[in-house]
Amino acid sequence: MTTSTFNEIGQVLREHQRFAILGHVRPDGDALGSQLALALSLQQLGKDVRVWNEDGILEKYSFLPRSELLTKPPATAEDVDVAIALDTAIQSRLGTVLAAIRSAKIWINIDHHLSNPGYGDMVIVDPSAPATGEIIFRLIKSQGLPLNHDIAENLYVAISTDTGSFQYPKTSARTFEIAAELVRVGSLDVGKISQQLYESHPRRRLELLRELLRTMRFEFGGRAASFSLTLKTAADLAVLPEDNEGLIDHLRAIRGVVVAVFFEELADGKVRVSMRSKDEAVDVCAICQKFGGGGHTLAAGARVRGSLAEVEGKVLEEIRGVLERKS
Ligand code: AMP
Ligand code: MN
Ligand code: MN
Repeated sequence: MTTSTFNEIGQVLREHQRFAILGHVRPDGDALGSQLALALSLQQLGKDVRVWNEDGILEKYSFLPRSELLTKPPATAEDVDVAIALDTAIQSRLGTVLAAIRSAKIWINIDHHLSNPGYGDMVIVDPSAPATGEIIFRLIKSQGLPLNHDIAENLYVAISTDTGSFQYPKTSARTFEIAAELVRVGSLDVGKISQQLYESHPRRRLELLRELLRTMRFEFGGRAASFSLTLKTAADLAVLPEDNEGLIDHLRAIRGVVVAVFFEELADGKVRVSMRSKDEAVDVCAICQKFGGGGHTLAAGARVRGSLAEVEGKVLEEIRGVLERKS
């Protein structure tokens, strides 16, 4: 994989006209915020920009400035000059968006996942960045691209959500400096943004947590904790896929727990596995890669074919091996 420089990418951004800015399925604040921020900056430059995500904008992120720009991909494929994938560890995680691009002269891949293989013609993968939003900020600054209130707020949300509100280990002095600059440049109301992000959940999210806690299991001397969600419970509570984002943090937050796992039964015969670690020596990205997934050392995921019970068994067995080898 050859890594591109910000200057090389900046040149491509300036020299082309039609862009599609893409992000991963089941998007989070980093994917959506980074997509909107880069799109708005390019629009300010007079570019023709499409912003597509398989899931469209999520209800809980609809407060993001200019969120209406981000739509589901069209049914008929379109030609663009440049397609830019953000925060997307493997190209297939773009989902239906991939089919919406008939042709692109150049594919750019900007991401911070350790497991990113470096697909595309121009690549910046920086696993030291706590959020793709931080890389987009550095791109914008280094290339003198437009940065206004709306762009700043989208980037702030990208960074705040992917750092767990500036708590996860990759949060550095530079992260706080970038956040400070975003707050200053955009005159951001941090309290209001935080309330929209962390204190505006629908009631059903807590009802979902109540059901998940009933299934909570501890294993391997309390070093692994897990809970699971069946299709039936999800239907009974009428929860949306986005409602469970962050609930796994309750498991990780328990003393003694090193690995937290969330199993979610999906309608396509697969189980979505979400994994978190509190110890760099327990690399959940490596565990998830064994099941065809990926992510970061301390936060990763996979979609595994099989019933809930089968997948739980296989994945916990793998975790047991890793914990035993470590101790
Ligand atoms: P999640 O548990 O869904 O919040 O995902 C944790 C991290 O792992 C995120 O950064 C995801 O982008 C990444 N990830 C989740 N699922 C997959 C997958 N199936 N393949 C590759 N990366 C994934
Ligand atoms: Mn993401
Ligand atoms: Mn991210």
